[in-house]
Amino acid sequence: MVRASWGWLVAACLAVPMAQAANKPSAIVVGAGLAGLSSAYELEKAGWQVTVLEARDEVGGRSGPQSGEWIGSKSAMPVLHNYIDLFKLSTHKAPGEVQRPAFLVNGQYLTESELAKQLPRDAQAIDKVRAELATLAQKITDPSNPAPDRDLLTLDQTTVARWLDGQGLPPTARALVNQMLRSRFDEPSRISLLYLLQQYSVYQQIGESERRAARLNGGSGVLAQAFAKRVRQIKTGQWVSRVQQQGEHVVVQAGKHEYRADYVVLSVPLPALGKISLSPSLDPLRSAAIKDINYGWRDSMLLKFKKPVWGQTRLSGEIYSDEGLGVIWLEPALKGGANLMVTLAGDNARLLQTLGDRQVVDQVLFKLDKRYPGARAAFKGYEVTRPGKDPLAGGAWLAYGPGEMSRYWGLWEKPMGRMYFAGEHTDKLFPGTLEGALRSGQRVAQQLLSAQR
Ligand SMILES: Cc1cc2nc3c(=O)[nH]c(=O)nc-3n(C[C@H](O)[C@H](O)[C@H](O)COP(=O)(O)OP(=O)(O)OC[C@H]3O[C@@H](n4cnc5c(N)ncnc54)[C@H](O)[C@@H]3O)c2cc1C
Repeated sequence: MVRASWGWLVAACLAVPMAQAANKPSAIVVGAGLAGLSSAYELEKAGWQVTVLEARDEVGGRSGPQSGEWIGSKSAMPVLHNYIDLFKLSTHKAPGEVQRPAFLVNGQYLTESELAKQLPRDAQAIDKVRAELATLAQKITDPSNPAPDRDLLTLDQTTVARWLDGQGLPPTARALVNQMLRSRFDEPSRISLLYLLQQYSVYQQIGESERRAARLNGGSGVLAQAFAKRVRQIKTGQWVSRVQQQGEHVVVQAGKHEYRADYVVLSVPLPALGKISLSPSLDPLRSAAIKDINYGWRDSMLLKFKKPVWGQTRLSGEIYSDEGLGVIWLEPALKGGANLMVTLAGDNARLLQTLGDRQVVDQVLFKLDKRYPGARAAFKGYEVTRPGKDPLAGGAWLAYGPGEMSRYWGLWEKPMGRMYFAGEHTDKLFPGTLEGALRSGQRVAQQLLSAQR
């Protein structure tokens, strides 16, 4: 997350009228994540008067240097790359070991080919799962309309875990597959098989290495910063509690301040949207969706050590361990020194939700110390991001649970009166990504421009 480059303007009076002076159409964007910022940027470019209201003191939302996102290639993330080019941002290429994930089995680092040699039964089982998923995914001819018939809808009623149970995987292969799915989506017992297949279908045109091709220099927070430099009115520290439609206007309340505009774009994650009082209230389907829709959990921990306690172990790149520790990678490029980024995902993260940050770090250190004695002694600090516990997020990203695609597909693309919705969770093809967030910002800007014509 990054601080907006300019201090926020104090709204001096209670009702802040917007844009009437210039007779420009106006919008309030709630949330300065990449969805909100891109919608604001596109609307302003089209001549609208826009005010972005952000609850935190910084812009960027879930994107930012701590989570250290890898970005896809131009073909994998075209909208993101358009902005990178437009704002003249620089990137560095992902090292090979990040592009090709590896495994940590019984503490031993194994590349895919080493896994195939040393644990052939497990490697073959993982390959078989991939092949089966690829075959099943071929049933989806249009990923933006993944369930046109009853056959495909049936796949939405089952969980990925149930399907995996039927694949007869040996225990290590199952632990590794679970870990890969948790890190990317959520616990396999919480995700719809149809959703996994739909995502397979979206990404099967895009090779594995294309998906983690580069990183923005300075982390993806620089993109939010680039938007913040160009969007005129961003008010941070404005926690929106109420949105009302009043005739031809919307009135948005944040603390003591009220803001008025022609339209509002709600670009906050669904758990955070559920905390905003809306008038008129959401229709029953959307209200149910807010309560139901599954969000993946992924906590990331940047652990700082005095020295690389993992010695000569090749602990670098995107690694899935059989011990429930998720993506583990060294972070020299980002933070310097002997840093290790560890993630806990799915139920491994949920189980620890009642613990404080330091207690969670201790749990991870305990596991690391058993593998790499001396880890605890060399430990010197940490940074933790826990979106599942954050009231302004409520989870890492949308990850459709069983039955949810049948009920809620495409729901948030539809406006409700003068309220429009953006955010990664509203994107049909790339939910849970920077690309999805940016695409949703552009989509909502287009909708508003059409509504105004
Ligand atoms: C740990 C982690 C790792 C990730 N790694 C990757 C990756 O490698 N590659 C990738 O492409 N994507 C990755 N993502 C996903 C990506 O970061 C998100 O999809 C994207 O940032 C979401 O943007 P958004 O604008 O939809 O939502 P957000 O970024 O959540 O923006 C919403 C904003 O609304 C604000 N808000 C909420 N409620 C209110 C309120 N009531 N009033 C005012 N403001 C409010 C929030 O503070 C926030 O700033 C990762 C996400 C996480 C959590």
